[in-house]
Amino acid sequence: MIIAIDGPAGSGKSTTARAVARRLGFFYLDTGAMYRAVALQFIRQGLEASLEATPDALSNLNMEMVPGADGLTVRLSGEDVSDLIRTPEVTAMSSRVSQLEPVRARMVEEQRRMAESESAEGRGVVLEGRDIGTVVFPNAELKVFLTADLRVRAARRTAQMGDGEEGAVRKEMAQRDRNDSTREASPLRRAPDAVEIDTTSISFADQVAQIVALAGERRRKGRV
Ligand code: C5P
Repeated sequence: MIIAIDGPAGSGKSTTARAVARRLGFFYLDTGAMYRAVALQFIRQGLEASLEATPDALSNLNMEMVPGADGLTVRLSGEDVSDLIRTPEVTAMSSRVSQLEPVRARMVEEQRRMAESESAEGRGVVLEGRDIGTVVFPNAELKVFLTADLRVRAARRTAQMGDGEEGAVRKEMAQRDRNDSTREASPLRRAPDAVEIDTTSISFADQVAQIVALAGERRRKGRV
């Protein structure tokens, strides 16, 4: 079974998807972390986020997503970059490189490969990102679109970071939302058959429980 969880920055996708995967014993794939790793690759090679620079960055890309007890470890050329990909510089760059069509094509290919190899071993997969239900797995058995007010998303992200200034985080988030929704290549959109969950005022436990219940329903309907 494939569960696709999409939504804007700070909507709670990562924590929710990780918790859902843990509850169901599924493999968890954070596709945003993959775009972040590519962004770090561009930065390390001193490249601009441009189509001209993309072949250079992609031909040297050696990225691994290694599942562990506390989620995924992201390796770039063998180095654990799980923390480095969370800096504001990488965050801003990830929003730019994700607009490049060849970058998206490569990421989608790798995401399908990883998920299909888990499925082939009989394991369910939870993928979270921006285009999972629309592009990566349009036939996913369950699609969820998480939303929340920008203010609430910014407050959550600031609390998570520990040292951010909420106004600045909100501005940066609004900019990323704009980039993600207006880009030509796979813009952030809710798939017509996705279940929308607004997390503005429901608890984290409730949103996880809702998704786990939906997964159970789909399974019972034999759509697995
Ligand atoms: O989810 P996260 O904030 O870590 O994603 C980082 C960036 O990667 C986003 O701003 C978005 O531009 C991009 N992204 C994407 N498609 C995905 C996942 C992330 O374009 N499936």
